Amino acid sequence: MVAEKRFTIKPSRGDYYLMDKCEGHKANCVLFQCPSEFGKGVLVSPTVHGNLIVGPNAVKCDDAERVNTTSDGLACVKAAAAKSVPDINYRNAIRNFSGMRANTDIDDFIIYMANDHFLDLAGIKSPGLTSAPAIGEEAVKILSENGLALTKKENPVLTRKRIRFKELSESEKAAVIKENPLYGRVICRCETITEGEIVDAVHSPIPPCSVDGIKRRAGSGMGRCQGGFCGPRVLEILARETGMNVLDILKDKNGSRILISETKKEEAFHEA
Ligand SMILES: Cc1cc2nc3c(=O)[nH]c(=O)nc-3n(C[C@H](O)[C@H](O)[C@H](O)COP(=O)(O)OP(=O)(O)OC[C@H]3O[C@@H](n4cnc5c(N)ncnc54)[C@H](O)[C@@H]3O)c2cc1C
Repeated sequence: MVAEKRFTIKPSRGDYYLMDKCEGHKANCVLFQCPSEFGKGVLVSPTVHGNLIVGPNAVKCDDAERVNTTSDGLACVKAAAAKSVPDINYRNAIRNFSGMRANTDIDDFIIYMANDHFLDLAGIKSPGLTSAPAIGEEAVKILSENGLALTKKENPVLTRKRIRFKELSESEKAAVIKENPLYGRVICRCETITEGEIVDAVHSPIPPCSVDGIKRRAGSGMGRCQGGFCGPRVLEILARETGMNVLDILKDKNGSRILISETKKEEAFHEA
């Protein structure tokens, strides 16, 4: 929109299985297979929280917005992963998801000044996440070379101090509950995430405004039931803390409203 077209996105979708923690021990390091023309191949990997993640495959797609999983794609992930770890029990899958790689017709990240005032960071395909800090530094360098005045922030947020209730000792738990009783109410039972941690997330410097946003900050809904139990409670807390109408709260992106309308209304009782 701001410059002449220099590249074309050629998206490819990758499906994943996220397994319950009971499968977490099936790999004790990230298991890669030999990369092919489709990319780095299907991985079996323990996650930092102790789950097992399996995937992704690579399927060329015309529509970059279609991030639905498919049974064919998931079957392909299973078959490929079996070469690394044959005994994964897929009955313990707790979530499937897919993502779209921003591949382009240029075999690299695309980082350039598209015009005098616009830096393009495009086609940030894999391993774009790993590369993000370096890309950020490069972006600052290019922008400053192109006239951006860099002023030092007076009050930068340098730390993210968070209470992880389940990681505290018994005496620390007692102390935080005494200070704030909300730490004494467990909202997410699978992951032991308390109301205090969720409220902290809602009031953090860049506040999350959806149920999945809170999940990413506080960890509620990450467990075996995937938010089946805590989801409605998180929604209530988010509405209470932000003043939002519960009907307007989203699960994640636009169009993902959780509640559509009230089903029961209290009617005034008039004695005959
Ligand atoms: C299957 C798969 C496997 C991968 N494996 C790895 C890996 O092993 N290692 C690695 O380092 N990287 C990996 N990547 C790549 C990594 O995920 C990306 O490089 C990285 O996420 C790119 O970051 P980004 O910020 O450029 O884009 P994104 O992470 O896509 O972020 C863009 C954001 O902008 C939002 N957005 C889009 N349009 C709008 C709009 N109009 N208004 C407001 N918001 C908007 C989107 O919702 C999204 O949140 C993988 C990607 C896929 C799909």
